[in-house]
Amino acid sequence: MSTQKGNTKRCRAQKYQNRSSFKNNLNDTSHRTKFINNIQVAKVCERCKEIIEWKIKYKKYKPLTQPKKCVKCEQRTVRHAYHTMCIDCGNKLKVCTKCGEGKEIIEGTTDPKEQIKLDVEMQDLLKSLSERKRRTFMRHMNKQVKENDPELQDNRAKLIDKLNMLKVADDDLDDFSDFDDLSD
Ligand SMILES: [Zn+2]
Ligand SMILES: [Zn+2]
Repeated sequence: MSTQKGNTKRCRAQKYQNRSSFKNNLNDTSHRTKFINNIQVAKVCERCKEIIEWKIKYKKYKPLTQPKKCVKCEQRTVRHAYHTMCIDCGNKLKVCTKCGEGKEIIEGTTDPKEQIKLDVEMQDLLKSLSERKRRTFMRHMNKQVKENDPELQDNRAKLIDKLNMLKVADDDLDDFSDFDDLSD
């Protein structure tokens, strides 16, 4: 972007505008691409958000296959690729969970319902459950959405864990009345 020296605000409109924005899913409608395109980058500073979103857009994004070690608490609690710190530590230290700097942090989408709706992985898991368990799970999820949990991004990972648990237990256990206690 062209700016005047010492002037960080763009002072004129972009000269050449692309006719349509770049689409990274034109020839690729795979589950993985859909999942990655739906990732909400949050709990990082503006610059790190742009870096990660750039990776998503141009298919350079590699999701984590398992949680990574947090540079602060040294637990395997980092669930988002390219972040170096877990959300808990980021919140505590009020820093970006990628670069670790105390800049203004992007909190992510303000519509958690939309965020959950978009989660392809979760939807696929839901489909694999029996009708009754699916309803139990939806109740549980709606409760969390209603409470507008600020840690929803992190809770999503927890919800997916629970879904996986339900799926595994689907054949063995018939009663999930204790499932409502799993919201801790
Ligand atoms: Zn941590
Ligand atoms: Zn940052």
